[in-house]
Amino acid sequence: MEFKGKNVIVTGGIRGIGRSIALNFAKEGADIIIFDMIEEGKDELKGLIEDYGVRFEYFKVDVSNYSEVEKVVDLLIEKYQKIDFLINNAGITKDNLLISMQETDWDKVISVNLKGTFNCSKNVVKYMIKKRYGAIVNISSVIGIMGNKGQANYAASKAGIIGFTKSLAKEVGLRNIRVNAIAPGFIETDMTKVLPQEVINEYSKLIPMGRMGKPDDVANLCLFLCSERSNYVTGQVIHCDGGMLM
Ligand code: NAP
Repeated sequence: MEFKGKNVIVTGGIRGIGRSIALNFAKEGADIIIFDMIEEGKDELKGLIEDYGVRFEYFKVDVSNYSEVEKVVDLLIEKYQKIDFLINNAGITKDNLLISMQETDWDKVISVNLKGTFNCSKNVVKYMIKKRYGAIVNISSVIGIMGNKGQANYAASKAGIIGFTKSLAKEVGLRNIRVNAIAPGFIETDMTKVLPQEVINEYSKLIPMGRMGKPDDVANLCLFLCSERSNYVTGQVIHCDGGMLM
């Protein structure tokens, strides 16, 4: 029960990696606050999380909308007086070669992935500063480091998250707040389920461990980055990719 008495906001926590992060935090005693757009799966997740004896709260929030995020964070602070951890996980893809990419697909990906990270961090970190305590973990991607054909918007958003992470870590380190990023490789979720089997086979050949990652692989690293075990780690980008990118 490493996180008993702590609370955590997980954005995009209903599905995929976010869901696994939420469940793993709950298993360790943290109260869970989810920001997501979908409600399908919410009741099942609530049941699983409450079975661990912790609180579950869901807010239908579009992380790309600054005022929506601000309103909910203020409400949470009124209720609990603190946010201990923030996991900026919500993310989308809208892939196309740049030559065919619509301006709206560029804007949408940047605003959910990058501006969403700004919106949530800015609204939460001011309260962490008051408490002189907190950890933020931003979910980037190996694509933000190595780029990918057809993903200029996604790669730019994920590279932006890395610069953001390091800058914020420098701003708040003296206040005992740590900010790190995780760069997952190829993880089994709805986001990758849509890929044809041949593409999955080709990618798997590039992974020294020879397999796709599981959402729990990312979640475990996320818990480590919020725990006392990583007390002196900030401003880092930790790869979770089976060795895909070294
Ligand atoms: P996923 O299964 O598609 O889940 C993403 C979650 O984010 C969904 O619940 C989604 O809800 C939510 N979301 C989307 N837009 C949102 C918004 N504007 N406001 C609030 N919530 C929103 O994706 P995943 O594979 O778990 O990915 C999680 C994170 O890991 C993402 O940032 C992704 O870029 C990153 N990542 C994933 C992989 C991978 O291989 N899977 C690799 C590297 C990095 P809706 O259903 O309503 O959209």
